[in-house]
Parts: sequence; C-alpha cells; structure tokens
Amino acid sequence: MSLILYNTLTRTKEAFTPADPARVTMYVCGPTVYNYAHIGNARPAVVFDVLFRLLTARYPKVVYARNYTDVDDKINAASKAQGVPIKAITDKFTAIYRADMAALGVLPPTLEPCATDHIPQMIGMIEALLKNGHAYAAEGHVLFNVPSFAGYGQLSRRNLDEMIDGARVEVAPYKKDPADFVLWKPSTPDLPGWDSPWGRGRPGWHIECSAMIETHLGETIDIHGGGHDLIFPHHENELAQGTCAHNGATYARMWMHNGFLTMDKAKMSKSLGNIVTVHELLESTPGEALRWAILSAHYRQPLDWSDETVAQAKTTLDRAYRALEQVTAITAIPNAAPDAVIAALDDDLNTPKAMAEIAALVKALNQAATTPDKARFKGQLVAAGRLLGVLQQDPTAWFGAAKASSGVDAAEVERLIAARLAARKARDFREADRIRDTIAAMGVLIEDRADGTTWRVAE
Ligand code: AMP
Ligand code: ZN
Repeated sequence: MSLILYNTLTRTKEAFTPADPARVTMYVCGPTVYNYAHIGNARPAVVFDVLFRLLTARYPKVVYARNYTDVDDKINAASKAQGVPIKAITDKFTAIYRADMAALGVLPPTLEPCATDHIPQMIGMIEALLKNGHAYAAEGHVLFNVPSFAGYGQLSRRNLDEMIDGARVEVAPYKKDPADFVLWKPSTPDLPGWDSPWGRGRPGWHIECSAMIETHLGETIDIHGGGHDLIFPHHENELAQGTCAHNGATYARMWMHNGFLTMDKAKMSKSLGNIVTVHELLESTPGEALRWAILSAHYRQPLDWSDETVAQAKTTLDRAYRALEQVTAITAIPNAAPDAVIAALDDDLNTPKAMAEIAALVKALNQAATTPDKARFKGQLVAAGRLLGVLQQDPTAWFGAAKASSGVDAAEVERLIAARLAARKARDFREADRIRDTIAAMGVLIEDRADGTTWRVAE
C-alpha cells in the first residue's frame, strides 16, 4: 500500500515517495511563543503527529522538525506590555506549549529548533540571496525582490495584484516593488537585535523557517506543513527565498496544509478573540478526548469546535476503554494495525475513516466470545490506536482521570462501596440498596463483577 498525500503545490493527491527513503524529512511551522496556544493552533501539531507516526512505522529514519518562533514583533509587544524580559516570555510559553502538546499525545518531534539559535544561518542565507541578485539592501533593511523569481505565486496560485491586495502588503519607500518582503530589518536599541553586515537588526519571519530547514534538514525536504493560513504569504515566501538561495533546487517536494478549526463557523484566531486555549480545555477534559475531537474531521476540512464535539469524543473513547477494561486480564496478541486502518490513513490521512474502523474493532472486541478472539481484537485495537496516538492508557487510568476531573469525591464512593459490600455480606439488602441509590445520586454508576465492584462517573 502506498501513502497518498494531497500536495497543495499541485492541488492533487500524490503517492508519497521520499527523495531518500533512508532519511525522510518533514518540517512544520510551529508556534510563536508569546501566549497560550489555542485549540486551533493544536490542530497542525496533532495532524502532523499522526503523519509522523505513519512515516515512522514505514521508514527507518524520519527527521521531523517543528520550530519555535521566539523573535517576533508580537513577542516584543507582550514583553513591553508585561514589563518582563523577552526570554522570560518565550521560555515560559515554550514550556507550556510542550506540556500542552504532550497532554494531547503529540510525540516530541525529532528536532525543535528555536529561531534565535539560527541568526548566523539566516544572515548566511540572506547573503547568498544578495549575491545571486534576488535580494537588495536598503535603509538598514534587506528585501527579497519578488519580480526576480518567475515562480512566485505558484503555491498560493494568486497573481501579484491579488497578493498585494490580499496581504495588505506594506508600501515602503525602500521597496523596489510593493510585493518585496523583508528578510532583515533594523532594530532600535530597545528591541532585540543582532549585528549583521547591514547593521544591528533582526530577521523577518519567513527567513527563520528557511534557515532552520537548511541547517537541520537540507536544501530540499520531503514534506513542509502548517495551517492553511500559512500558504500565503509565509510559505510562498519561504518557497521563493529557499529556491533562490539554493540556485533553483526544489525547496519542498510536498506541501501540506490543515484546514481551519472554527467556532460558530468563524476561524479561531487571537485577532478575532474567539479562542479557547488548550490549557483551559485540559482543566476539564482529558487530552486524549481533545485529540480524538481534532482528528474526528479530515485534516483538510474545517472543524467546528463545540462542547458537543468534545463530549462526543469522550463518549466514544469511554466506549473503547470500557471494551478494553473488560479484557484487562487477557494478554493482547501483539499485532500490527489492521489493513483497513492503515489504508484509511494512507489515503491522505483519512482519520474519520480510521476512527470508524476503530469503532468496528471495539464492537468486535465486545462481541468476541473466545479468549483467543479477545486477545486478537485487543491487540488490533491497541495497535490501531497507537497509529492515531489514542487508546494507549490503562483503562483504569482513563476512567480514573475522568473520575478525578468530574468533581466526584472518589474516597467517598470507595467508602460507600465498601459499606454496601458489608451490608450485603450481612444480608441487609435494604441497606445495600439504599447505599446503591446514594451512590447513583452522586452521578456514579457501579458494576458488580466477579473480581469486585467497579465504578465510573455517569456520562
Ligand atoms: P501561529 O502561532 O498563529 O503562527 O499558529 C501556529 C500554527 O497554528 C500555524 O500552523 C497556523 O497555521 C495554525 N493555526 C492557527 N489558527 C488555526 C486555526 N484556527 N485552525 C487551524 N490551524 C490554525
Ligand atoms: Zn514557517
């Protein structure tokens, strides 16, 4: 089976064939670390994590880099507003982002480069662009000269006028062409800056990613990813400067973009203010349920976020973990994920289809009558879950976390269960029933099993 991915550059689904199967390379634009990530920001991290898992299962070495943008005007503004050093802000929110993504089951990428660790490489790349006539220096700035690259606009498929209007490109006296974009800009003493051949300054956003890619992954990478909003101008500009700095070498062989996460159909974004942060969602919802909700829509489709989306995800996972809980005592037969799950993911990461296959496995596990069947379906379910980054917890831990976040007093429930058991032993069934009703009134369901009484919070 071959992996088929939708390439934004060609607007078609293509078979994925890495340039070097011994070293597959993928780069995804990461967060600008100046505040909490919202759940829309988590979408690319989760989606490309699934792709990372899929590639890792197939190729011996996958180098996946996801960066941190730690030099940016929004960071400078936050530092000024809060009266704290820039590094205090970027360090804090880098750590929070890492922890939030880990809670969503996102594996650490192979590399997590920070922009500020790559200033010399950015300067080197800008010098290469100046040397080969694709950039020019003016008034402390260095600009990429868009008309010098005939391929400009190929990724976003916009003509120059549309691009200039759409991006509200800044008209500045030092620009030769209104579409030209900044590679380097001067810094005033109160702003972060680095010495450069053009004076003290700081990089433009686009050159950061190109320099990190060149440093860690090489001139040509297999997959470049990010959210749909990055196609223009960020990725269009990366493509232009990356290609020109390397004398026409292909910059990225495949471009992939996730669709927007919306709320009431409007794109979730800091500027609109309609955001809900991963951090606050995690206070009341297990990260795995958030992950399942994100993957419940195909990555290129919009995903409308609501309490309902999250509740459904949690119910579906409850069902799967309940099936696994029933077979706790049975050792799973180690299995590869079933072909149907792999085929779904191979078809441009069709996660909704893969999840439907997982639901079918849950049903098969629930209906399995023999121990060998149970062991087989359990193994398949866990292996399928591993590819999606779900169902890897002990069911007790899953239900335990739900108990912990439900507000139910677990110690009190345990005490009542013990009291009910004592009443039953004493054949005081009226008292046992009374205690059962008390427990039910707490919103807790109990189940008597051969090995004791278990409980869970009612949905
Ligand atoms: P930012 O920190 O704004 O640069 O965004 C980090 C990543 O999140 C980028 O890949 C964006 O394209 C992506 N992103 C931002 N908002 C959304 C959204 N509402 N839905 C999906 N992806 C988004
Ligand atoms: Zn980028």
